[in-house]
Amino acid sequence: MTQICRICGGAVHKFLDFGRQPLSHAFLKPAEVGKETFYHLAVGICASCTMVQQLEEVSRDLLFGPGYSYRSSGSAVMRKHFDRLAQRFLNRELAGAGRFVVEIGSNDGIFLKTISEGAVAHLGVDPCPRAAEIAADKGVEVLVDFFDEDTATQIRATHGPADVIYAANTLGRLPYLPSALRGVDALLADRGVFVFEERYLGDIVAQTRFDQIYDEQFYLFTVRSVHAAAARHGFELVDAKRLPVHGGSVRYTLARPGVRPQNINVAGFLSQERAQGLGDPATMLAFAERVQHARSRLRTLLRELRDSGQRVAGYGATARCATVATYCGLGPDLVPYICDPSPAKHGRLAPGSHIPIRSPKAFSDPYPDYALLFAWNRADEIMAKEREFRKGGGRWILYVPEVRIV
Ligand code: SAM
Repeated sequence: MTQICRICGGAVHKFLDFGRQPLSHAFLKPAEVGKETFYHLAVGICASCTMVQQLEEVSRDLLFGPGYSYRSSGSAVMRKHFDRLAQRFLNRELAGAGRFVVEIGSNDGIFLKTISEGAVAHLGVDPCPRAAEIAADKGVEVLVDFFDEDTATQIRATHGPADVIYAANTLGRLPYLPSALRGVDALLADRGVFVFEERYLGDIVAQTRFDQIYDEQFYLFTVRSVHAAAARHGFELVDAKRLPVHGGSVRYTLARPGVRPQNINVAGFLSQERAQGLGDPATMLAFAERVQHARSRLRTLLRELRDSGQRVAGYGATARCATVATYCGLGPDLVPYICDPSPAKHGRLAPGSHIPIRSPKAFSDPYPDYALLFAWNRADEIMAKEREFRKGGGRWILYVPEVRIV
């Protein structure tokens, strides 16, 4: 199947098809079975600009409206991460009178809280009203809307140019990325910087992290594809820096051409990606083959455990677990329940697979023989917390970077 690239109009070639998938955040009540919304999750790569993108778009109102439940501040690691970056901006780009920063996807104010405490003019933009209320309680100003070219033009008219525009884990969620980049062009001060961070395709491919592909994550970036998209919109990629968060991310810095020196990191990344074949269709097809292999290994393992009378539970009902459970055909017959700390999910069913979600207390009552760790990105923290499970003979099942028991 060939489609037109959203970024450059080139030909997009499909390399991986997950089939019919539910909305990843739609944990349903038992009475709602049969009323779920499904879409087709497939990803392709542009033969021209190499941008990896989904082939079907889920409406932004369905994904990020009032029902959107993700709150950034739940993670202590991320609170520290954003506080450190905000302090850095306050000491550098935002030092001096009259500075202004805009955050795209400000969620519950996890980043802008520190900026507001530093008494710097700011504006968060986020379409989720409940998240914006939580941010406002922290003293953060939020415009409840989707950032795109129109919104950015209005912000510029009302507030003037922004010295910093920042986005974390949001830009890749915007199928209309060209409109957002035109918006950044309209809003950014001449010497301003646009900084954003996103999960890195290099890590997803190297570690076969196929569950990082789900409804929200429309684009998967490499330095090469970001470099090309930036240039199309009149920006220069002046820095790229690896971050350990979310299983491997990169922080990109864009500026107007010639305004800032380009860090040597950018050339380093580009040559490393070339050597890895990142951006080559053949690399993506090899990744897809590994994903198919992981699916059959996981299904076989879980069937063998069930048939030999072993008790299995899931751990961590993440949004990403929709991709794994639905694509691998896991249901309550193979994974009878998933334990998750979020009270809002208890008594509900995982989207698509309809595996019941239980509170973390159920995990030790009694411990299962095996626990399938959906929240693998927090493996160290979870395994340390659940050391009694391991001491009692329990074993963890991981599926990233390959299916294995530890
Ligand atoms: N930046 C936070 C972080 O890294 O934890 C939140 C990331 S969350 C995964 C994505 C956020 O982007 C959500 O709060 C969502 O409501 C918001 N969002 C989605 N589309 C947006 C848009 N067009 N403009 C601004 N925010 C958007």
